[in-house]
Amino acid sequence: MNNKGMLYLVATPIGNLEDITFRAIRTLREVDFIAAEDTRQTIKLLNHFEIKKSLVSYYEHNKKEKGNYLINQLLEGKNIALVSDAGTPGISDPGEDLVKLCIENDIKVTMIPGPVAAVTGLVISGLPAGRFAFEGFLPMNKRARKERLASLKNEVRTIVFYEAPHKLIHTLKDLYDAFGNRKIVFARELTKRFEEIIRCDLESAIEKYDNESPKGEFVLMVEGISEEVVFESRKKDWNTMSLEEHMKLYISEGLDKKDAMKKVAEDRGISKREVYNGLL
Ligand code: SAM
Repeated sequence: MNNKGMLYLVATPIGNLEDITFRAIRTLREVDFIAAEDTRQTIKLLNHFEIKKSLVSYYEHNKKEKGNYLINQLLEGKNIALVSDAGTPGISDPGEDLVKLCIENDIKVTMIPGPVAAVTGLVISGLPAGRFAFEGFLPMNKRARKERLASLKNEVRTIVFYEAPHKLIHTLKDLYDAFGNRKIVFARELTKRFEEIIRCDLESAIEKYDNESPKGEFVLMVEGISEEVVFESRKKDWNTMSLEEHMKLYISEGLDKKDAMKKVAEDRGISKREVYNGLL
């Protein structure tokens, strides 16, 4: 018999308190206790819905010790809800570590879905949303940040970032240095009273925020590079690349040998046999 408890990942509003599901409220009422990233924020939410429940704080800087505590409680049969300071637990918060621990300990995890700032911002942005790359917060470490941005330079999908207002201008300048001028959409204060969507490009965004300090919470959507631009810049590279290097490029992107050969042949306007012979 399995007497273990269950972890409920409960999404909560990202601003507007009406954006909570019936199931989220019922779950918060029914669990034994709630693990919260920001207890002050969660108390406001619980008070609003008249839910009386004990809270345990679980956030980035205590996740190791509190993670073990929560796992022991779950193993003893307690049902726990995990909530983020806002939105979906596990998105840019330590929720994913707790889920991993539960899986390692054979504890069931379920999700009560709800708002995510990234998806809300993306669909409102008007930029392509069929495929997108969620990047969350860029690394703070200078080198790691540079490498991350370099790895995104040829990303064709819309790229979604989170950023704190006091770091916004710094990040905009880094984005401009890495990508050049691109379309950017700011989704500010989503679902709140002063929700605002600003559609512009990186150059004008830098000009704007060099002269005013940004307020509130932001999701940034940056347009991906166009497939044609990638193709053209690669074409330049092929002239200086050997067949082996050209093949390696596609294999590093996840293609198998056969498909890589096909792409190389297409790129160079030669037959697959010629590529094959050239590689021998
Ligand atoms: N777990 C959350 C989610 O599901 O979206 C994200 C948490 S992350 C620590 C906080 C970041 O999310 C903020 O810095 C901001 O970039 C973004 N964010 C959260 N609420 C927002 C809102 N109402 N409007 C715009 N951005 C928001």
